[in-house]
Amino acid sequence: MRKIGILLETKDGVLKKTNFGVITAARGADHELYGLLVGGSGADYKTALEAYGIHKLVEITAKEGALDWNPVSWSGAVIDAMDHFGVNTLLGLTSAQGKELLPRIAAALDAPLVMDCIDINLSEHTVKKSQFSGKTVATIEVKGPCYIYGVRPNVFEAKPSPGQAEVIVFQTDFESDGLVVKEVRQDASRGIDLTEADIIISGGRGMKNSDNFAILSECAELIGAAVGASRVAVDAGWVPHSMQVGQTGATVSPKVYIACGISGSVQHFAGMKTSGLIVAINTDSEANMVKNCDYYIVADLFETIQLLTKQLAVIVNKDQ
Ligand SMILES: Cc1cc2nc3c(=O)[nH]c(=O)nc-3n(C[C@H](O)[C@H](O)[C@H](O)COP(=O)(O)OP(=O)(O)OC[C@H]3O[C@@H](n4cnc5c(N)ncnc54)[C@H](O)[C@@H]3O)c2cc1C
Repeated sequence: MRKIGILLETKDGVLKKTNFGVITAARGADHELYGLLVGGSGADYKTALEAYGIHKLVEITAKEGALDWNPVSWSGAVIDAMDHFGVNTLLGLTSAQGKELLPRIAAALDAPLVMDCIDINLSEHTVKKSQFSGKTVATIEVKGPCYIYGVRPNVFEAKPSPGQAEVIVFQTDFESDGLVVKEVRQDASRGIDLTEADIIISGGRGMKNSDNFAILSECAELIGAAVGASRVAVDAGWVPHSMQVGQTGATVSPKVYIACGISGSVQHFAGMKTSGLIVAINTDSEANMVKNCDYYIVADLFETIQLLTKQLAVIVNKDQ
């Protein structure tokens, strides 16, 4: 049996749902799946994880108990667990946390690392990754003593595969002496994490100011969507950087992406090109976003969002 590790992520004590897509991608007839959990209790997540095919759920702790967030000690602890359980392939999310941990783990193991994978073949050791702002897709063959992959959140549809998971508490001896985390600050954005969202409504320069983003939030709230933004909206100080989608922001793959007043630059597309369905709302029928989407509405975004919110409210209230 080949032992595959999944670096699990939680947020505010809740298992991120994008973990389930990664687990789905890692399943295979001869694969034993090890969920590696740092900073949490395995018992809390056992039921959810065994429903997707995790066989062993390894709760990694220190002598003193749960490990507080520290990228050096967390990556050291994961390596310790991989070594102990004989895991030689590790998959995680290309998230903020994944970007902290996976490169450290790969560097320490002298292992090849591919981040932001959009497809993975674990038997052939090949991965697909979009390059040059999404203009090309590279197939990369990976060779090494072990394999570390970061998966783009939401690119794999999570499919249940019920089974039984065993929770194992593993105590690491690893101690971080080089880095001390003094403070963790919550970012200014609220609501659903962009990379976790099934639906994203984003605003660009067409939003005109910060206050107008409230109309996107109102609409998003009705359907459980997250609100994103173009870089122009972020650079203007209308919304925090954590809401930026694109080459220098978040890379997202929601089922539906609604771009309001966003022209569709190559840098913006780099972050949302793999969305399931793209909808453009733009006054310019020649905008790149309009030309490269699935559905478009050539209209004023303020009028359109207002109508959409009204209609959605009727549907939501009817369902309640
Ligand atoms: C190195 C580098 C990295 C970058 N990284 C990113 C990145 O990560 N993310 C990103 O987004 N950009 C990024 N950019 C910037 C990028 O090149 C574009 O400048 C930016 O994406 C444009 O944002 P926008 O579409 O909101 O604005 P614009 O291009 O100005 O488009 C505004 C659109 O709004 C429409 N509009 C205006 N009013 C209305 C209305 N009332 N109703 C409907 N439509 C309306 C207009 O027709 C227009 O299409 C990067 C650039 C560089 C050089």
